[in-house]
Amino acid sequence: ADCLVQKLALPTGKIIEVNTGLFINNEFVKSVEGKTFETIDPATEKLICNVAEATAKDIDRAVDAATEAFEKVWQHVDGKERGRLLYKFAELIERDKEELAALESLDSGKAYSIALTQDLVACIDIIRYYAGWADKIHGKVVETGHNKFCYTRHEPIGVVGQIIPWNYPLVMLTVKLGPALACGNTVVLKPAEQTPLSALKAASLIKEAGFPPGVINIVPGFGPIAGTAIARHMKIGKVAFTGSTATGRSILKDAAETNLKKVTLELGGKSPNIIFEDADLDQAIKWAYYGVYANHGQCCTAGSRVYVQDSIYDKFLQKFKECSQSKKIGNPFDPDTFQGPQISKTQFDRIMSFIETGKKEGATCFMGGKRHGDKGYFIEQTIFTDVNEDMKIMQEEIFGPVVAISKFKTDEEAIEKGNMTKYGLAAAVFTKDVARAFKLSSAIKAGTVWVNCYNSVDTNAPFGGYKESGHGRENGKYALEHYTEVKTVQINLGLKM
Ligand code: ADP
Repeated sequence: ADCLVQKLALPTGKIIEVNTGLFINNEFVKSVEGKTFETIDPATEKLICNVAEATAKDIDRAVDAATEAFEKVWQHVDGKERGRLLYKFAELIERDKEELAALESLDSGKAYSIALTQDLVACIDIIRYYAGWADKIHGKVVETGHNKFCYTRHEPIGVVGQIIPWNYPLVMLTVKLGPALACGNTVVLKPAEQTPLSALKAASLIKEAGFPPGVINIVPGFGPIAGTAIARHMKIGKVAFTGSTATGRSILKDAAETNLKKVTLELGGKSPNIIFEDADLDQAIKWAYYGVYANHGQCCTAGSRVYVQDSIYDKFLQKFKECSQSKKIGNPFDPDTFQGPQISKTQFDRIMSFIETGKKEGATCFMGGKRHGDKGYFIEQTIFTDVNEDMKIMQEEIFGPVVAISKFKTDEEAIEKGNMTKYGLAAAVFTKDVARAFKLSSAIKAGTVWVNCYNSVDTNAPFGGYKESGHGRENGKYALEHYTEVKTVQINLGLKM
C-alpha cells in the first residue's frame, strides 16, 4: 500500500502526503483491474496525480466489506460509541484542517482561505452535529388499546451508497457520512472523479479515529462505471446522491430497475433572488453577489435569476457591477482570491457555450462573458440583462459565474416569475416589509427561502428541493428519517382470535 502514497507539492511549497488507493476495509488498495485516473489542478490544467479507479468489481468488494461490517460489528455498536467515533473523526478533521483545505483547494480550484474558513468549519460542525444525534435515535410507543402493546424501532437500513459531486467535496462527504453513521449504517461512498483527494485524506482520518474496518469505504471512480454500479447494486439498501438533475434521474431509474433501493436526491436549481425597492440596497447587493458568485457559481443554490423592482433596477445594476469589479479572480492560494477556476475543461466549455447561447437568444451581455487569463479554467463574472423567462439561460442551470438580472413591478409578478422554473431548491427575498416577506416565502415553491440573506445554510436546518430539485432533505433532524427503517412491533397482551 505504500506505493500508493503520493507526495504532492502545493504552490506554497508545502508537501502533503495522500494515499491514492481505494479505501476498503480500512486499507488502501489498488483496484481489481489495476486502473487509475488522473486528477487535474483546474488552476494550471496540470496533472496533480493518479488515483486508483474503482470499477464494478471494486464496488462489489466494498459492498461486501460494508455488509460484513454491518452484520458482524456495526449493528451491534450502540449509539454512544458511534457518537464517540464521530466526535473523534471531527477532532481529527479539525487537527488537519489546513492540510484538508489545501487539498480541497488544489483539487477543486476553490480559494484556500475560503476552504479553510468556510468549508472546513462546516465539515467539523456537521460531523459533531450528527455525533450528537447518534445516541438520541429511537422509536415511539403507539397506543393501540389495552390488549396490545405497540412500539416502533428506528433501525439502520444496512449498507448505503453515497455519490457526491465536486463542488463541495468535503462538505458533501460529511453531510452524507454524518447521518448515515449516526443511524448505524455502513457506507460505500464515491467521491467525484474531479476531486478525489480530500476524500482520500479523510479516509486516513476515518481509520485513525478507530471506526471498525468496512464501516466506511471510499471508492473514487467515474459516474457511469462506479456510480452506476452503486446505484444498481442489489445489496445496497439506499443511495444518497448530490449532483445534476440528469444524473439523479438515471440513479432513480437504476434503483427502480434493480432492488428498489431508497433514493434521496439533492439536485440542480435555478433559484430566484427577488429584491424589492424597500430593501437595504447595499446589503441586498452584497448578498446577491455572494449568492450567485460564491464557489465560482458552482452552487446548486446559486441565485442565478435576480429580479429587481423596476424603481431601483438601474442603481442596483451599477452597484452590482462595481461590487464584481472589486473582487479578485486568480490563484486559489493567493490570500485575497475570491474566485478560482471552474472545476474542469468540460464545465468551462459548457458555461462558455451557455454564454454564447444567451447572446444568440438576444440577451444583453452587460458584463464579462469571456475567459479570464489564458491558463486554467477561469471565467469572468458575467451579467446578462434584457432576458425573458423563455430563454435557455433563464431555464437551465449554468453552474458558473453567470447571472441574469431583470425587472419586475408587483409582488404578483415577482412570484409568478420566481416560480417559472422546473427547479425548486432555493429562493430569496429582500424587503423590510415583514408581511411581504411572509407572503413571498409562502408563495415561492422552493425547499429553502432566504429573507434578507443568501446561501446562509445551517447544519440544523433541513435542506433539499421541491420539484425537479430533488427527493428528501439533508441536514438537521430531517436527514435521519432517510437513514432508518421504521419497524412496528405489535405485542399481544391478551387479544383473543
Ligand atoms: P457533473 O455533470 O457536474 O459532473 P454529475 O451529477 O454527473 O455532475 O456528478 C455528480 C456525481 O455523480 C459524481 O460523483 C459522478 O461521478 C456521479 N455520476 C455521474 N454519472 C453517474 C451515473 N450515471 N450514475 C451514478 N453516478 C453518476
